[in-house]
Amino acid sequence: MPRNISPYGTIGQGNTKMPGTVYSIDAFACVTGSKLAAIAGTPCSICYARKLQKFRTNLGVAYRRNLEAWRAVEASKNYAAWSASMAAQITATGTAYHRWFDFGDLQSTAQLRAIADVALATPTVNHWLPTQERGMLAEFTLLYGALPANLVVRVSASTIDGTVPKSAHSSIVVTTATAGTWPCEARTRGNQCGDCRACWEPTVKTVAYPKH
Ligand code: SF4
Repeated sequence: MPRNISPYGTIGQGNTKMPGTVYSIDAFACVTGSKLAAIAGTPCSICYARKLQKFRTNLGVAYRRNLEAWRAVEASKNYAAWSASMAAQITATGTAYHRWFDFGDLQSTAQLRAIADVALATPTVNHWLPTQERGMLAEFTLLYGALPANLVVRVSASTIDGTVPKSAHSSIVVTTATAGTWPCEARTRGNQCGDCRACWEPTVKTVAYPKH
C-alpha cells in the first residue's frame, strides 16, 4: 500500500508477484481501456485491477489520489516537478525495476513525456509501461522521437488472442501458446515473476500472458 508522501503522487512497492516499484492510478480512469472494458473479448473486459479495486476500496482511494495529483500537474503544467518527485521516490528505494500503471493507464501524451523524463533521470532503473494508448505513443514519437533506452513501452493487444500490435514492444493476452511471443510463466512459479524480467527487457518484442 503506497504512503502519501508527495503532493505529486506516490510510488508504491511491487506486489508479491512483481519485483521493484510501481506507479498506479484509478483503474476506472483509463481513456481507451474504459471503452474496451464494455466490449466482450477484450483484456480490459476482464481487468484484474478493476476487480481488485472494487474489493479493496482503500486501493481506489490511494489510486484516485495519484490521479488527482496528476490532473493538478496537467492543470498547472508543472511537469518537471512531477518528474523530479517520481524520480526521487524511485531512486530512494534503490530498485532496479519500475513498472508504470499496474493499475490504470496513460492519461495523455504529456504524461508519457513526463515519464520519459523520469526514465532519463533514473538511468540505472529499468522502466516498463504497458498501455492501450497507441495514439499517445504515436504522438510522442512524432514530437520527441525515440523513447529513452531504459523505458520499454508495451502496446497491449486490444483483444484476447487478437492481433499482436505492430509496435517495437507489445503484449497480448492469450488462451493458447502463440508463436513468436515470450510466454509469461509466472503461474508455474506460484504467480511470481521469480528471476524473469522479460516485461522490462528491450530484446523481448512481445510478451504473451495466459488469460486468467
Ligand atoms: S513475463 Fe516475466 S516479468 Fe513479465 S509478468 Fe511474466 S514472469 Fe513477470
